[in-house]
Amino acid sequence: MFKRILDLFRLPTDNMDVVRSQLSAFVHQVPLLYFLLAANSIVVAWTHSDVAPPLLSIGACYALCLICSVRLFQWLQDRKRNLPDKYAARRLRTIRVMTVVLLALFFAWVGALYVYGDLNSREHLAFYVAITVNTICICLLQVRSSAFVAISLSAIVFVAMFGFSGDKYLIGITLNQLFSVIVLAYTINIHYGSFVDLIQFKGELIRQNGRMQKLSDDNFKIANHDVLTGLPNRRYFFARLRDIIGRKRQEGGSFILGLVDLDGFKPVNDVYGHHVGDALLIEAAARLTMAAGSGTFVARLGGDEFALIIPEPLSDEDLLVRSRAISSALQAPFEIDGAVAKVSASCGFAAFPDAGRSDSELYDRADHALYHAKAHQRGGAVVFSSEHELEIRREAHLEQVLRRADISREFSLAFQPILSSSTGQVVAFEALARWTSPSIGSISPGLFIPVAEKVDLIGDITLELFGQALDRLAEWPESIGLSFNLSARDIASASTIMKLILLVTTRGANPKRIDFEITETMLMQDFNLAVQSIQALRLLGCGIVLDDFGTGYSSLAYVHRLSPSKIKVDRSFTLEMSRDPQCRTIVQSIVGLCDNIGVDCVVEGVETEEQARIAGELGCDLMQGYYFAQPMGAPAIPSYLAQIAGIPVKVCTRRHGGEPHCDDVASCPVTAPAARVRREA
Ligand code: C2E
Ligand code: CA
Ligand code: CA
Repeated sequence: MFKRILDLFRLPTDNMDVVRSQLSAFVHQVPLLYFLLAANSIVVAWTHSDVAPPLLSIGACYALCLICSVRLFQWLQDRKRNLPDKYAARRLRTIRVMTVVLLALFFAWVGALYVYGDLNSREHLAFYVAITVNTICICLLQVRSSAFVAISLSAIVFVAMFGFSGDKYLIGITLNQLFSVIVLAYTINIHYGSFVDLIQFKGELIRQNGRMQKLSDDNFKIANHDVLTGLPNRRYFFARLRDIIGRKRQEGGSFILGLVDLDGFKPVNDVYGHHVGDALLIEAAARLTMAAGSGTFVARLGGDEFALIIPEPLSDEDLLVRSRAISSALQAPFEIDGAVAKVSASCGFAAFPDAGRSDSELYDRADHALYHAKAHQRGGAVVFSSEHELEIRREAHLEQVLRRADISREFSLAFQPILSSSTGQVVAFEALARWTSPSIGSISPGLFIPVAEKVDLIGDITLELFGQALDRLAEWPESIGLSFNLSARDIASASTIMKLILLVTTRGANPKRIDFEITETMLMQDFNLAVQSIQALRLLGCGIVLDDFGTGYSSLAYVHRLSPSKIKVDRSFTLEMSRDPQCRTIVQSIVGLCDNIGVDCVVEGVETEEQARIAGELGCDLMQGYYFAQPMGAPAIPSYLAQIAGIPVKVCTRRHGGEPHCDDVASCPVTAPAARVRREA
């Protein structure tokens, strides 16, 4: 019981939420409280100014009001400050102490005035004390400890001062006041209980809200961020893109969308394993974020593709500087678990609103620029321009025409011979697709193959052309083979591969006479799938030619796993061979590699006698190019073969590192007959 009474005066320092709420409730009441104390005291000073000495009635009241004003001022100064727990508890303790001190001072003043007054003035004093204390207690409703201090103190003073006065009326007032404070104390206690419950409930609600907020933040992070790199993901990127487009449309202004794609990431994954690939992506994301500059939004769209939103317009030069910083940051070697991996980055940029006004349009433009960078300037950057716009329109038109094309009628083949420089004989013809559309004329395969891949018509075209090629193969001498180009989509399609195999078997063609040409870049797209297709073709007995060798990222591991039957040195090397010694060294090392692994090497794109001579000197036997013959229609082949058959053969090249048999290349009959055919044609 005694403990429960003591608890009424105790501060709730074990629950800081309650302490803080008490303080904030009190701060709101404090001006009223001091106003009431001062105003009521001034009234008392006025009624007692005639009976008590002025120093006591007016002077003391003045001093008390001054104290009230100073306290009020201090409270108003502090009301906005967010106090630490320790100071908040201390502040509450001060309220309790100040309640005692201030009430003691007021009661002392009332006691002094009591001595001077008559019954009327004493009744006024009793009324003043009762009404003031009761109102103060109501102001202290939430600060129970101080309210109970005020109630107890006032009850003691009231009884002591008026209860023993001997005056019936004053004793009556004392009893009235005692009954009032008992009810007041009871009400304050109940109210305080509800107040504490409310605060605790509110605290719990805030904590629960906090937990919900954190959960929702976590969910947002998971849904909008890439787990591996921690960068914003594709969904977040497009939301951000739509957001900035909306803002720029309203406010005006421009921004830049960039796409960054790592070149040579797939081989790293294939050769070193996925854990090294993952670590590389994490490191690449960090480098990209640094190099992109502050303010740039960087996201991972998936795989090795990243996106940037540069929120301000940049000139082409500035953009180039930025993209160079990105390229060089990503080109630096990655050291992971003892392995050193190297990649480069191609970038495509498109500016809003010139390149596109909607998110999908702008993204497509940046993607187009990236495609260009990858195709023409690997490791470089391309900014989408009006020429690209024109190209897109042309491509879209081509797409429309191709969709309506009659494949078996409009598509045909041209054949270009691959010759052996040691025998001067044609070893095979490479079949090259030709499309002559009745509406737009003939279109080069470099243009229509990518479009056919895009609209998923490439499989039909490949199968139609392969059928035509097999018909031609049946007409040629047994010693001459067919080299047939496959697209990346063909290699990735098990159904196309099965149909090709079926065509070979049903037509009764000798698979040993057939080579399929695939490029390195095709392998990059899905190496394992490509290997499965290649194995199926090899199992049938066909050969595999690694085309355009040297332009991609072929590692020895690739060549080894594919074990091709031929490697074709890319045209770009042949062109440079006569001017650039470094290029010659590259070709020589490719020829050396072929020698070592026992694979035939073909130098393609031979246009001049000098190129043919250099290729021969470097030890390459098989050659192909305009210098020997342009691609020709199937009907021209018999006469072409007849023409070169009549020309005597003399060997002049180094074969597999062997010594040359002939010194005089100009009069050498190996390259000459084919060249003559070309000139005569
Ligand atoms: P490719 O497989 O590298 O084919 C060789 C290309 O080089 C052919 O161009 C050929 O005409 C050209 N060429 C031959 N000798 C020379 C030369 O001495 N100098 C120069 N500058 N070029 C020479 P074409 O027929 O325009 O084919 C271009 C590309 O289109 C081919 O490159 C190949 O990637 C693709 N392609 C052609 N036919 C087919 C096909 O039936 N299927 C697939 N999937 N792709 C094909
Ligand atoms: Ca080819
Ligand atoms: Ca080629």
